[in-house]
Parts: sequence; C-alpha cells; structure tokens
Amino acid sequence: MPATYRTAEEVLRTVFGYDSFRGHQAAVIDHVTGGGDAIVLMPTGGGKSLCYQIPSLLRPGTGVVVSPLIALMQDQVDALRQVGIRAGFLNSMQDYGQRTDMEQAFLSGDLDLLYVSPERLTMPATQALLERGEIALFAIDEAHCVSQWGHDFRPDYLALSMLAEVWPTVPRIALTATATQATHQEITERLHLEDAKHFVSSFDRPNIQYRIEAKDSVMKQLTTFIQREHPGQAGIVYTLTRANTEKVAATLRETGIPALPYHAGLDPRTRHNTQARFLAEEGLVVVATIAFGMGIDKPDVRFVAHVDLPKSIEGYYQETGRAGRDGEPATAWMAYGLNDVVQQRRMIGESTGDEAHKRRLTIHLNAMLALCETVECRRQNMLSYFGEACEPCGNCDTCLDTPATWDGTQAAQKLLSTVVRLDRERRQHFGSGHLIDILRGVDTVRVRQWNHDSLSTWGIGADLTDAQWRGVVRQLLARGDMALSTDGHSTLGVTELGWEVLRGNREVPLREDVVRKAAVTTESRKARTPKSTSTVIAAQDLSEPDAALFEALRAWRLEESRTRSVPPYVVFHDSTLRAIAATRPTTLDELSLISGIGAMKLENYGEAVLAVVVSSDDSTT
Ligand code: ADP
Ligand code: ZN
Repeated sequence: MPATYRTAEEVLRTVFGYDSFRGHQAAVIDHVTGGGDAIVLMPTGGGKSLCYQIPSLLRPGTGVVVSPLIALMQDQVDALRQVGIRAGFLNSMQDYGQRTDMEQAFLSGDLDLLYVSPERLTMPATQALLERGEIALFAIDEAHCVSQWGHDFRPDYLALSMLAEVWPTVPRIALTATATQATHQEITERLHLEDAKHFVSSFDRPNIQYRIEAKDSVMKQLTTFIQREHPGQAGIVYTLTRANTEKVAATLRETGIPALPYHAGLDPRTRHNTQARFLAEEGLVVVATIAFGMGIDKPDVRFVAHVDLPKSIEGYYQETGRAGRDGEPATAWMAYGLNDVVQQRRMIGESTGDEAHKRRLTIHLNAMLALCETVECRRQNMLSYFGEACEPCGNCDTCLDTPATWDGTQAAQKLLSTVVRLDRERRQHFGSGHLIDILRGVDTVRVRQWNHDSLSTWGIGADLTDAQWRGVVRQLLARGDMALSTDGHSTLGVTELGWEVLRGNREVPLREDVVRKAAVTTESRKARTPKSTSTVIAAQDLSEPDAALFEALRAWRLEESRTRSVPPYVVFHDSTLRAIAATRPTTLDELSLISGIGAMKLENYGEAVLAVVVSSDDSTT
C-alpha cells in the first residue's frame, strides 16, 4: 500500500470499506501493531484475516503469512489485490522467474503481505532472503496444524518454533478456528508463544442452523433438503468414503443439482479444477471426504450436509463451520442412522492403534452420538463441549421443534433380554435385523433355522414398527446400554449399564424419530439473523423492485468476475449488493457509505454499479 495509514479504523474504512470492527479484532490489531505477540482463537468466519492484514499495513515492512494452503494462495492474493493491497506469495508451485520477481518486490519494500508455505519458510535460502528485508510481523495461520494430536498435523509446522529465535523482536500472531483447550496449549508451547496475549472468542455461529434427522432414505432426504431449502446455492456434502463421494455426486446430478466429487484419491489437476469451480460458481455442490474445505474462505457456502456420521464433534463443528462465513443464514444438516453407529464402532474395533488410542476414539464418538440423540438444544450441547455456556438457541431443530420423547424402558428390556438369550447360544452371530425380526415375530428362514420362534421374547414387540425398533437399537447403542462385539462380527452384547435397565434400575427415555422435519420457516431464521450495527439487510427484507435490482447487480457481478478472472464474491459480497439494491445510491459518495466498498472498489466498480442502478430505475418507472 503506497499510502501510509495512521489508524486501524482508517484502514478498515478506506481499504476494506467496513465501518466497525467485530469481536476482538480491534484489540488484537492494537496489540500486534504495538509489537506484541498474540494467539487468536476465533470461529471460522469470525474475521481472523484482518487481525494480521491491518497490522501489516500499519507497521513498517512486509507482513509474512505462513499458510499450509498452497493451492489457495493465488486466490488469497488476488482478493487482496482487488482492494489495493500489494500481496504476493512464495511456494513450490511457482517457477523460477515468478519466485525471483517476488523476492525482488519484497527486498525493495514493495510488498504489504507475503504468503509463504511452512516448508518454504524453513528453507535456509528463504531465511537468508527474509533477513535482508524488513518484516512487519509473522502471522501463523491455521496454527492448530502444529498440534500432533489434532486432525490436521503438519510436521513442517514444528520447525516454526525457530521464528522466535531468529527474529525475537518481530511480533508473531498465531490464528486458528480449533477451539479445544489441548490445541490451545500446544500452540502456545510449540510456537514459543509463552508471552503472547490470548484472544479467545465465543465459538458460536449464530447464523448457522443445526439440524440432525434420522436416516430413512438418505439420498431422497438430501435432495429434498437441497431442492427445497437451497436451490441454486453452493454447498458441501461430506461423506466418509471416496467411492461414496462419486455415487452421491452422480445421484445429485441426476436430479438436476450440479455436483462434483472431491477426495484425496483424485488426481491433483481434477482436484484443483473442482476447487476452482466451487470458488468461481455460485451454485455448485461439492461432495467430499474431509480432504475438502480447510482454508477455503468462500463466504457464501449456504449449507453443509453430512450423510455419514462424523467421528468427533471437533470435526463436525469445523466442517459445518464452512457454511455461512458471510454471516448470512446457512444450514448444517445431517442424516444419521443405526448403520452409522455400527460402522463407526466397528471401525474403532478394527483400528490398529493401542488401547489408549481406541479409548480416545470411543470418547470422541460417544460425544458425537450424544449430540445426535439429545433432546436439548444442539448448540448448547456443542458449545458446552468446547467449554462455553449458552441459552437454548432458537435456531436448531430441537429448539424449533422440540422432539417428542417416550418411555422406552419396556421396549429396551424386551430388546436387551432377547440379546441375552441369543448370547447364550454363542455359536452364531446375529445382527440387529434378526433381533428385530424375533421381537416383531417375523417368520424368516433364519428364524426357523434356529428355532427362534420358540424364544420367550418371540413376537413380544409387534407393537413397534421395524423403523421404530431400529431407532431403539441405535439409541441403546448410543447410550451405552448395549455394545457391539469387537471380533469383527458386530454382535450385540449387553453392557453393565444395560443390565441396570434389565434389573429395572435405569430408565430409558427415547426420542421419537421424525424423518424429514418440515423446512424451517423464514420467520425463525429471521429471528436469528445476527444483529449488526451496519447496513446488513436480510434477503426477505427486500421489496420486489429492490429484489429485481439485486438480481441485476448479481448478473453484472458475474460478468465482471469472469472478465477479471476472480470469484464473484471477490468483486462484492451478496450483503453489499443487497445494501446497494435497498438504498439505490446515485453518487459515488453515497455508494462509498455502503459496507464492503473501499476506495479501490469504488474506483474500479463505482461507475458501473451506479449505471446498473440507474438502468433499473429507468425500467421500473
Ligand atoms: P476467518 O478467517 O476468521 O474465517 P475471514 O477473515 O475470512 O474469517 O472473514 C470472514 C468474512 O468477514 C470475510 O468476508 C471478511 O471480509 C468479513 N469481515 C471481517 N471483518 C469484518 C468487519 N469488521 N466488518 C465487516 N466484514 C468483516
Ligand atoms: Zn438450539
């Protein structure tokens, strides 16, 4: 940035076009600009980037940003250049010429921000280069990658401890959206940030609506959800296996939903293209394994769906957190069923780790299952898992439509005593399907073969449907009243807790499974759209002519983004276009008051935007 700025507020307004800081942003920026170290824990979409970008502009020299996301550096740099920030990157995907150009720019003091991959930063040549220039600060993005027990460990991150020794006077700021205490601790120690100030934000994402429903016919449920609630919008569907990503994507395409698979087994070129299309297009659905999503800061992902049960709340929260980074309403939707529990328990049983490792996995899974089965607020459940308290949120399925519960004690006793009886036979492995047949008195070949119609529990559960019994089995497994054998056959067994149920010492309240809850009304969504001091206008608040102008502006934006080869949201966010549509500015001055329009964007797009507004006025009058 050739101009020099005096205050953080000035940068916020003139460069980024925003009128106020959010959460801890102002405090972090103040602390780091003053030369202090910082650890910043903020949820996805909380606004971490400004915390290092603004101090980099205010301090002399270049801000060096360490990021593991090489594939995304170009996009990040493009977006910064759009607002007039002089940004560049160094990574292994550049050729020699590009790299030397970048190095020259850094040495001449022509860079505000330089993105570097951790492996490149720790090379002696890079260190020698950096020592010859002036560094404003080091920002360590995705800092949880330093945690060996976390889910994104990158060995290269461990070497970053050297920054403290080589540049003891340069401030360092570590940022992450991973909230657990253990990760926080590890970041502090491994990056030598003992003297850093800690900024820990609430991890609540109020604009995301959390919903978990019982699996019935999952593809039908998924397509209905997308078609009804998010037609034409961008979203991510997570599934556990590579094969399933392909299958689900194909099925979505058959129903007219544009969808592509993404997993680590695809060749890099295909992966890159899929990612690029996801960023550039407005309505693409990517069906992915967990390999997709980290660091993708596409702000307008409107939903994240899970068609398989995630392994932990940490993973689930991080994945769902990729929805709605722009703060506008978004949905986290999941379908989950008995098979998910069986599959995950089996995977833990078969995993190669030691007993302690398996115990950890089991604890993670149990917490996830408790979230799925809770009849209380989902958000309360998750936030309390991260050590945070909140009131019932009013924007999750259980708050909006309190699930009915029923006394499942008798049903549980019937089921558990059948399990005990079968267990006595020991010769054979019977799955849950056979158990349910016995309870419902269904005459099958298998039942005859084993004379199971002579069991005392034969037919005593005919009052419940097959689906209801599956719900009972699932919930007893989730509650821990039953367990699966770990011999690879997943035979059901009764646990100590289950024996308490059989003895009548433990009650079994169960939730009534409701498949396909009605779509949540706009009213309830509106209530939870986060309050903002600025000009954020909810979609449903636009009048008809304003909505038409909004669509015209979107069409203009798409053209513009193609001409400039950047994603539409890099030109302007939806919220900015909506504010333009609602206020219909007629001069550049009026336009500049709208949130998201800084000096550079005003210069590049101002006249064109005013022209769209004028032509819409002409056509409506
Ligand atoms: P994170 O890295 O924490 O996930 P980002 O830094 O990408 O979040 O910010 C999320 C979105 O919020 C971005 O689109 C960003 O431009 C916007 N944003 C950040 N800070 C502000 C602010 N103070 N006012 C308005 N918008 C903001
Ligand atoms: Zn709730």
